Amino acid sequence: MTTDRIILCPACATANRVPEARLAEQPKCGKCGRPLFIGKPVVLDAAGFDRLIRIGTLPVLVDFWAGWCGPCRLMAPQFEAAAARLEPRIRLVKIDIEAEQELAARYRIQSIPTLALFERGCEIARQSGVLDQNAMVRWVQGALARH
Ligand code: ZN
Repeated sequence: MTTDRIILCPACATANRVPEARLAEQPKCGKCGRPLFIGKPVVLDAAGFDRLIRIGTLPVLVDFWAGWCGPCRLMAPQFEAAAARLEPRIRLVKIDIEAEQELAARYRIQSIPTLALFERGCEIARQSGVLDQNAMVRWVQGALARH
């Protein structure tokens, strides 16, 4: 009994069907051949994000940030380290709220950095302020376990 996951390629955004059991075996994109998991957050614009949460079937952890925000820059390496630890179970995404103001408004982002966790297209948890990678991983696992 195996469940398939729909994984969007970080390089070309093609939707790939991957059996759950094979997620950890460094699956590659059927179209461009690049790895589906790169151990790093994926930078997306509003269209890419909408496509990911509409089609993708992994939980998605979003870092809403901006270049002018000092705490966001402080948290960036922690978020990157968390990506290496949470993949391939969770997709980590960075959204620049300066470039994607419509998306920031839609999700009512009041302060940054804000982390938001989505499952099956719905936001299930949110956390504002700087977290280190350990606190981030614990928060995500706790939120998914409660959901
Ligand atoms: Zn690809």
